[in-house]
Formats: sequence, C-alpha cells, structure tokens
Amino acid sequence: MKIGILGAGQLARMIALAGYPLGLQFVFLDPSAEACANSLGQHLHGAYDDPRLLAELADLADVVTYEFENVPADVADFLASHTQVHPAPKALAVAQDRLIEKAFFRDINIPTAPYAPVNNFADLESAINTIGYPAILKSCTMGYDGKGQSLIKSVDDLAVAWEVLAGAPAVLEGFVPFNREVSIIAARNVAGDIEFYPLSKNTHRGGILRIAKCLDSDALQTQAQHYVTRLLEALDYVGVLALELFDVNGQLVANEFAPRVHNSGHWTIEGAETSQFENHLRAIANLPLGKTHAVGKSAMINFIGGLPVTEELLALPNTHLHLYDKAPRKGRKVAHATIRAETAEQLDSLIEKLAQIADQVDDS
Ligand code: AMP
Repeated sequence: MKIGILGAGQLARMIALAGYPLGLQFVFLDPSAEACANSLGQHLHGAYDDPRLLAELADLADVVTYEFENVPADVADFLASHTQVHPAPKALAVAQDRLIEKAFFRDINIPTAPYAPVNNFADLESAINTIGYPAILKSCTMGYDGKGQSLIKSVDDLAVAWEVLAGAPAVLEGFVPFNREVSIIAARNVAGDIEFYPLSKNTHRGGILRIAKCLDSDALQTQAQHYVTRLLEALDYVGVLALELFDVNGQLVANEFAPRVHNSGHWTIEGAETSQFENHLRAIANLPLGKTHAVGKSAMINFIGGLPVTEELLALPNTHLHLYDKAPRKGRKVAHATIRAETAEQLDSLIEKLAQIADQVDDS
C-alpha cells in the first residue's frame, strides 16, 4: 500500500520510519528540495496547490494524509474527490481557524477560555471590556508555536497588539490561569475504535514546546479521554489527533487541537507499546490499532536551533536520539531525545540533564 503525505518534514519522516516495518511505501508532496523526509520515499517537488502534482499524488497514493493542518480547503477537497483522505477535510477546516475551532469545542461541550471575534479595533475594545485583562489576541489562521499572538495586560497594550495582527481576522481569548499544560493524543480507526495515550505534560518556552513528559495514571486522564472522544466522534475522525488542554485546578480547558501526529507524542516512539506514528498509519490504512499504554517512564526533549553532540547524548543511559536531518537554524526543531527510565527519580534527573544540553545548543 502506498501512503501519500502532504509535507515532507520531520513528522512525515517519522511516519515513514514507522511505516516501513508494516510494508508501506510513501510518496511526499513538498515544495522544498531539502525536505527531510524526501529520502524516505518518492518526492513530488512543488507547491501544495499545483494541480498537476496533486493529480499525480492522488493517482499514486492509496490513501493521502498530511503532516500540517494549513492545507488549503480546495486542495483537501480535490484530493478527497480523487482518493481516500484521512483525516477528512472537515477536521482541517475546523482546526485551521481558531474561531471555528472554539465554536466547535463549545458545541460539543468542551470548555474553552472566554473568547470573542475581533475584526477591527472597535471590536477589540468591546471584546476586552467583556473578557477583561489579561487576555491574548490571536490571529484566526496560520498561527502556531505562539506566532501571531500578543498578550494584553492593560489598555496600553491594545494598540500594539492590534498592529501585530496587521488587519488579519482575530480572536481575543481570556488568559487561562493554568496549573499545567497537558495534551491527549488518541487514534481512531475507520471502524470507530479509539485508543488513548497517557496524558503528556508539556513545557513551553516562547510558545515552543521544549519538554513533554508522559503522565502515567494522571487524575485527569478520564476527563481528557471524554473530551477527545467527543471531538473524534463529532469529526468522524480517522487517524491520530492531539488535543491541547490547560489544567485549571483539576478542570480541563481546551486550547486547540492538531489533526495529525503531534510533537507532544514523540515520546511514544520508545515510551509506548505502539508509537503515535505507527497508530496513525494503522488507522488510515484500515488496520487494527495498537495498544497505547506506556512502557516504562518516559519524556521527550526538543533540540531547537542547534544539535547536541551525538556521542555525548548516546553515552547517557536510557536516552534515544532522533535527528531530523535538518540544517540547524534559529528557532527550528532539528532533533529530539526520548528518555525511557525505570523510576520517576531516574527520569527526572535525566530530564534535567538533557534540558541543560538542549539549552546549551538552543539559539532561540
Ligand atoms: P497556541 O499557539 O494557542 O498553542 O499558544 C501557545 C502557548 O501560549 C500555549 O501553549 C500557552 O502556553 C499559551 N497560551 C495560549 N493561549 C492561552 C490562554 N488563553 N491563556 C493562557 N495561556 C495561553
């Protein structure tokens, strides 16, 4: 079976690496000649909306999936009318626009921060009067890793926050006073079976994920599973999905979801019975899902902007390195390490050590 992937970055690369043992083949569509998954399959080189390449992709692939959510709606629709596409274009349409996404959460009774649409400065002033300070102004589309966002602490920040948007449609969100950020990753197959991974506790800096730690047996696991089940079923979703949540004194509040494999699930490669990448493939290829329970205690540390010394890292116990074959560049995720330890103490001390190494090479 041949899997087509829109995008050939590190997520596509890790999907392909998980697919080879299952006898799957890959074709990628990506505008970059240097995209890091290119060497793992056939590469269609060009724009995501190039009609000739899209027709070729639909022709070559038995099923098409994607590694990013900002796939133009007409591209997803074209592919879906020519071949199987998982997850379906509806999931993209919801995830691409923060306002639509928040309304969708509300409709299926998943709590969100208070929010209001902002299309001009007068909207912003009236929204802040309702929501109050502090609040976050976010562009509705194309925002990720904290991009296109401004924290508004007082009336003095309003004008700058509005300028940052440069007129783009936006949403004002109340600032959620969270205790922790967590995410739940789940896989749903064509038959509607769902497997849930243990929650991941996520630590960000500057809006970018730094550390994800598997939380085995967390008190909020069941609540998160209820929410993600509602989301998967409402979207009739097939594949792996990540739901990012704030923990506010034991009550989960949804931030956003990603209709794809997710950085906070990279620890599953060594830390779960079946990785998120393999389960995404199992789901979209209509194969039985693998079990998702944790194997040992694990965490993932991202390397951003710079690479660790391979020999130094591999000399550490219980540490697994994943290089993405990407040239280091400021703010760019170029590798991650997974730790899989036997005890919580061993895990925490290795997290500390690896976080220090990551900080030394991090230039962001
Ligand atoms: P996002 O791009 O929406 O994932 O936001 C990036 C990061 O900004 C999140 O991981 C949070 O740390 C923070 N953040 C986003 N929205 C809020 C909010 N409404 N309240 C508090 N923190 C937020």
